[in-house]
Amino acid sequence: MRIDLITLFPEMCEAVLNESIIGRAQKSGAIEVFCHQLRDFAFDKHKRVDDTVYGGGMGMLMKCEPIALCFEDICKKCDTKPHFVYMSPQGATLNQEKIKELAEYDNVCVLAGHYEGVDQRVIDELVDEEISIGDYVLTGGELPALVFIDALARMAPGVLSNNECFTEESHFNGLLEYPQYTKPQDWRGIKVPPVLYSGDHGKVDQWRYEHSLINTAVKRPDMIEKRELSQRDREILDGYFNEEKAK
Ligand code: SAM
Repeated sequence: MRIDLITLFPEMCEAVLNESIIGRAQKSGAIEVFCHQLRDFAFDKHKRVDDTVYGGGMGMLMKCEPIALCFEDICKKCDTKPHFVYMSPQGATLNQEKIKELAEYDNVCVLAGHYEGVDQRVIDELVDEEISIGDYVLTGGELPALVFIDALARMAPGVLSNNECFTEESHFNGLLEYPQYTKPQDWRGIKVPPVLYSGDHGKVDQWRYEHSLINTAVKRPDMIEKRELSQRDREILDGYFNEEKAK
């Protein structure tokens, strides 16, 4: 997977993307990430990428032409036309389903906005979709872009090692992950559930599934409401909540 990020702050983004798992994945060749300085595509003498808003009002808007030129330059470097995402508080809220869907693209280009955002013609003519990281407004699109790129990149084959597998993690299959424990077995009198060190893999899997279901019902009942529960699932949840009531 190749990811291109258009930003006014490439150094800030590279500092994050070159570290840890995403940094290692780039070095190993599992993914390619390129950060592009939008100002390099502003060809007036002041290298301006923004201008005042028609109709008046406070703030500046990012201009069409530098974004179009930068995107066209990126397209020339990619094997297939990148899916173009604009990070915007007006977009659909990002979730794991969307990440799974976009991880199918070989090339994704991300635009981090600034100021009051971007000229609507860029969104209408170039952008494939707007994505938000939540119902609040940040000063710029760099942090949302980094959140998005991290979530996307970790789905690419070879980015996570086997023991960092994402398929059991929260949200991948519509549930939150089960509780996890490490050494020591007894910490200040609080013990790890014995089934987890019993060596019985079938029982461990069963415990994990049950606690994944319970964890989700306790923390995110809205996710359980959307899920088709089996008879066994209902028994697990009824058993848990009846026990809680009796306490
Ligand atoms: N005037 C815009 C509006 O009301 O929709 C907000 C512009 S915001 C101050 C500047 C930039 O930050 C946006 O262009 C976008 O790239 C980014 N941004 C801010 N909040 C965001 C969010 N929740 N999700 C994704 N991007 C966001």
